[in-house]
Formats: sequence, C-alpha cells, structure tokens
Amino acid sequence: HDGISFREVDFRYDSAGKDVLHRVTFDAPAGKVTALVGPSGAGKSTLVKLVPRLWEAHGGTVELGGVDVRKLPLDTLLSRVSMVFQDVFLFHGSVRDNLRLGRAEATDAELEAACRAARAHDFILGLPQGYDTMLGERGARLSGGEKQRLSIARALLKAAPVLLLDEATAFADPENEARIQEALSELCEGRTVVVVAHRLSTIATADHIVVLDGGRVQDQGPHEVLLSRC
Ligand code: ADP
Ligand code: ADP
Repeated sequence: HDGISFREVDFRYDSAGKDVLHRVTFDAPAGKVTALVGPSGAGKSTLVKLVPRLWEAHGGTVELGGVDVRKLPLDTLLSRVSMVFQDVFLFHGSVRDNLRLGRAEATDAELEAACRAARAHDFILGLPQGYDTMLGERGARLSGGEKQRLSIARALLKAAPVLLLDEATAFADPENEARIQEALSELCEGRTVVVVAHRLSTIATADHIVVLDGGRVQDQGPHEVLLSRC
C-alpha cells in the first residue's frame, strides 16, 4: 500500500519562471524499483523531492498509498519515506540524533551495525575520541562523503517502506563505492524505490523506467519495451 502516484503534476521554482515539471503522470508501484532517467535539467531531482514535501506541486497531486502527501502529517510522511540524496540534509543535532531519526528506540548495537553496512563506521568508530563522543558530534562538522554515508546508515536503520535515491553514491570514493552500492541494493529489496538512475546496470535491473525530458514524461515501461521502441 506504499505505491507512489504522480497525477498531472506541475511545478516551477518561482512564480514568474518556466515550468520545471509539466503534467507529470506515472506510478511507482509498491515494492518495485522505478528508475527515473533523462538528461541533466530534466526535472528528476525536483520530482523525487515532491514526495517528502521538500517542495510542493503547484498543480496536480502526489499520492503515497493513495493519499495526497499534502494531507499526510509530516511525521507520518517522514516515517514512511527514507531519502538518500546528493545534497544530503542532516538535521541540526548530533550524529546520534540523525542516525536515530524515526527509530528513537534503536540500540547502540543497531546503530553500529547500520554504520558498518554503510561504511560509515570508520569515521564514527575509528576516531580517537571514541564512539560515544563521535555519536555526540554535530553532524554539520562531517565532510560531504561522511554526511552521505551517515544518511545511508540512517536509511538502513529506519528501513522505511519507501526509499528515494538521487545520486546516492555521488561522494563515495572507489574503495567504498562497491560496498555502499551493495548496502543500498539490499535496502532496495521489497521496498517501493524511486531511483534517479545513471548507471546502465541500475536501469537494466529496474522494474519500471520513466523517461523525463524538459519536465515531461517522454516514455515509460519496462526496459524491454523501451528498447523495442529504439
Ligand atoms: P535533473 O535532476 O533532471 O538534473 P533538476 O530537477 O535538478 O533536474 O532541475 C530541473 C530544472 O530546475 C533545471 O532547469 C534547474 O536549473 C532548475 N532548478 C533546480 N533546482 C532549482 C532551485 N533550487 N531553484 C531554481 N531552479 C532550480
Ligand atoms: P546514482 O548515480 O544516482 O547513484 P545509480 O544508477 O548508481 O544512481 O543507482 C544508485 C543505487 O541504487 C545503486 O548503486 C544500487 O545500489 C541501488 N539500486 C538502484 N536500482 C536498483 C535495483 N533495481 N535493485 C537494487 N538496487 C538498486
């Protein structure tokens, strides 16, 4: 029941500006991976940010489990959606606060396991200050790559039914990239995933592909269908 539906969605960043999204309509089915593809500037990042209401559509609706996201209380919405974005947002507060987001009851052992899976333990566990001190450290003090790994660890811990990925591995160095991708792939299993996809391998394994260009859906379907039209 956690599918996402975009219905005739219009969006522009400023009221005088051009439409960034125009009448966008498609479904990201529950429990499936939907890949968003298209050239830079197509509106892919903007689109995924409408789900957790980082932005709101000016026309049309975005629905989660059949309910307009504007009608869902923010805490309900955020408990159902995990995000790993390139422009990582950490909430004001400590590393521990950020890790525990939506999972206040998580034990320190669970925090540690999620950090290990996301290769985030090095900067939390490996520092001379020690684990407890680092968990208390302000998230804002971390580097870009550390913040991104922390946001992946946060998503692993929270295990929300909906997962949004947008350049989730943008900051990963080569030695961490494979492990981080593996952790993300495991996390994707059985969830409703919308991934802004760049790698061909991601596109080829997605259940559904949506091609966006100039803020409009140009085509959609499983990749066999899209390839057959080329
Ligand atoms: P994509 O993810 O496909 O590269 P984006 O959603 O990032 O596309 O961008 C779509 C359009 O919206 C682009 O023209 C971009 O310049 C513009 N845009 C993106 N973010 C902002 C913003 N915060 N303010 C104004 N314009 C933006
Ligand atoms: P980006 O360049 O935006 O990070 P990718 O195409 O590399 O985009 O996809 C991001 C990550 O999402 C992948 O590394 C993978 O771990 C996960 N992922 C994407 N699609 C799937 C899928 N169909 N099944 C499992 N995991 C997936």
